[in-house]
Amino acid sequence: MTAPLSIYVLVDALGWEVLRYRPFLDDLWAERRWLVTILGYSSGAIPTILTGQTPSQHGHWNLIYRDPARSPFGWTRPLARLPKPLVENRVSRRVLKSVARRASGYSGYFSLYDYPVAHLPQFDLTEKRDIYTPGGLDAPSIFDDLRAAGIPYECYTYHTHTDPEILALAPARAESTAARVLFLYLSGLDHHLHYHVHEPESVSQMVAWYEAGLRRVWEAAHRARSDVRMFVFSDHGMTPIRWTYDLRRDVQATGLRLLDDYLPAYDSTMARFWVENDRARATLTALLEDHPCGTLMSDRELQRLGVWFEDGRYYHMLFLMKPGMLLSPSDMGTVRFAGMHGYHPSEPTADAVLLATAPVDKAVDHITGVRGALLEDLGLATWERAA
Ligand SMILES: [Zn+2]
Repeated sequence: MTAPLSIYVLVDALGWEVLRYRPFLDDLWAERRWLVTILGYSSGAIPTILTGQTPSQHGHWNLIYRDPARSPFGWTRPLARLPKPLVENRVSRRVLKSVARRASGYSGYFSLYDYPVAHLPQFDLTEKRDIYTPGGLDAPSIFDDLRAAGIPYECYTYHTHTDPEILALAPARAESTAARVLFLYLSGLDHHLHYHVHEPESVSQMVAWYEAGLRRVWEAAHRARSDVRMFVFSDHGMTPIRWTYDLRRDVQATGLRLLDDYLPAYDSTMARFWVENDRARATLTALLEDHPCGTLMSDRELQRLGVWFEDGRYYHMLFLMKPGMLLSPSDMGTVRFAGMHGYHPSEPTADAVLLATAPVDKAVDHITGVRGALLEDLGLATWERAA
């Protein structure tokens, strides 16, 4: 075949610090650089990669946001009156999740983690559709670009396949496809690093497994054609956890009343608060502005980081933990993870990567630049870098 093939691979949590001293297809790359990520999780970082916009612009940030009027969980309201042990246990939460998923009609990444059932009617989920499709986000993404330009592509993600399945079928697809683009999203490294980031041998083995899998894809593509390009990029890194802290206990000790005074979301590296009155704001400010575990973020810095939302749907107040300090227990679970992401983007272990077999504009130093690099690879020059 003479038609070119571009292989775009998004590897969740493939951090610069993870790759820095490990071999990873090093003979292939014309570019190998770190990218600054956004403040937040994959739910904000991946839409940022796909759209080239900041969360403030494309609207996707953390997994849940406050919107009681449109919450798909309004029907769970009566459950709040039941005794807590009856509702807050693994079995009933699993049932609740599967009912909620069907009732919502959402087809994106669906998890309720451990957000209290009594608070669910306050929230809506950010990811309502499969974001790896045209129209999957409210802002135009690389998938809309591909469709608009009439560029045929194939895309494989966790929605339909596991990582071993993707890496097993991708070489054959790379060899025989008539598509211009093969897009792979690999999510399993993130899970491994959450549990094993402190074990260098284990991490090396896992990285080597992905390396071998992607090399098979690369070689298979080359068997069929001469013009093959590969771009590997990630959404964030992984920060080793050194301490945990139960911030909820401190907040509860203030005597503020849940729902009447404030609504919290404890997200493993940050605590978000919606406040109902000035007293709640003043009390939380007094508790958090000098707290040794983290920083009460200023509106100005949140604006600078591209995660400010005028309508306050994601938070009124945001307390960010220091790198390496895990909020635990949190609404994301009670597991004491070995690694976590979602710290300040200036933390070196938070950096993402961009690896490419073709040169990339030197100005691309942030995950907002990935879409532009891909559009350039495709010869679509309509793109302008987000401010
Ligand atoms: Zn993760």
